[in-house]
Amino acid sequence: MSLKLFLLPGDGIGTEIMKEVEKLIAWLNGEQLTDFTTDSGLVGGCAYDAHGEAISEADMEKALAANAVIFGAVGGPRWDKVPYDKRPEAGLLRLRKDLGLFANLRPAICYPALADASSLKRELVEGLDILIVRELTGGVYFGEPKTITDLGNGQKRAIDTQVYETYEIDRIVRVACDLARTRNKKVHSADKKNVMKSGVLWDEVAQAVAKDYPDLEFHHILADNAAMQLVRNPKQFDVMVTDNLFGDILSDAAAMLTGSLGMLPSASLGAPDKATGKRKALYEPVHGSAPDIAGKGVANPIATIASFAMALRYSFGMIELADRVEAAISAVLDEGLRTGDIAQPNRKIVGTEEMGAAILRRLAA
Ligand code: NAD
Repeated sequence: MSLKLFLLPGDGIGTEIMKEVEKLIAWLNGEQLTDFTTDSGLVGGCAYDAHGEAISEADMEKALAANAVIFGAVGGPRWDKVPYDKRPEAGLLRLRKDLGLFANLRPAICYPALADASSLKRELVEGLDILIVRELTGGVYFGEPKTITDLGNGQKRAIDTQVYETYEIDRIVRVACDLARTRNKKVHSADKKNVMKSGVLWDEVAQAVAKDYPDLEFHHILADNAAMQLVRNPKQFDVMVTDNLFGDILSDAAAMLTGSLGMLPSASLGAPDKATGKRKALYEPVHGSAPDIAGKGVANPIATIASFAMALRYSFGMIELADRVEAAISAVLDEGLRTGDIAQPNRKIVGTEEMGAAILRRLAA
């Protein structure tokens, strides 16, 4: 049966990078390696211009009905003054909320050809492939009370509240364990159980979930130590699971071990459907709409193509195909092709289309 992909290119370079993914999908279908049907919609500023909302109800319905959503990027100076609830990012937030996307996946993959661009030594990062699984809808970013109170004596008191319930921890740790099964079978769960009650519960629930995955290596790690180990010896990790706040910080640190924004893919997953076991999912590059280079044909399409590879791996279980796409990206970088954002001396600078075509050529080879 055909699998439904809903493409939301968005604004700025979003439309340029998504075209390269469309060519990849067409090639995969043409080779009968996949059977995807695609539909496209508007999100962000372009949706606001067309419908007065950052995403229309009709497109929300299509996103809900799709097997996976592939998202480009939203935003730009043109829409800086639109009402807050209609700003371009509101489209992405609505998608995350309505699709129930509570698990954010940020891989940090270091392609050998770019190892010298890392701030760490080549031997520490070459071949790095780790996945940070961040809880996305709970914790201190959403907990109540969340206030600033004037104490009347020249002082103010600010309160944020870290709240986690068992089910929220259970489901995110299960996502991490399920993903580890498709990778190197090792999970580190990071919290601050030495000083935080939410950390104590986090670890209690995580350890209980781990008992259902006896085939995995499961480790507890304190979040501060996790930060240190990520820059000391990142290759010791396979999958790391943590809460919203620690995940925000650790995933940025891990991602930047490996280079440019134009290289970083991500995914957000929801709960498995009771009948089919399939999860709602949205795949997107980490970068934004890059208004400074939009329309010039120079954006790096790799983050978006790598996000699509994540869809193959995590939504469709097409692991070999995902490996092939990632290997094609790696081979093109080995050949010496670079977009401007990852330019290095003595390497050939190419545009968006040329980079996409080179990846396709490698895939077909
Ligand atoms: P940005 O990620 O768009 O750009 C930061 C810098 O990185 C720019 O110099 C840009 O040219 C470069 N860059 C980003 N992606 C690139 C790529 N694929 N290839 C080559 N270079 C690339 O971040 P910003 O400039 O802070 O934000 C621009 C707009 O994007 C804003 O409106 C912001 O709100 C929005 N934004 C959207 C998302 C999203 O859609 N998820 C994420 C971040 C920012």
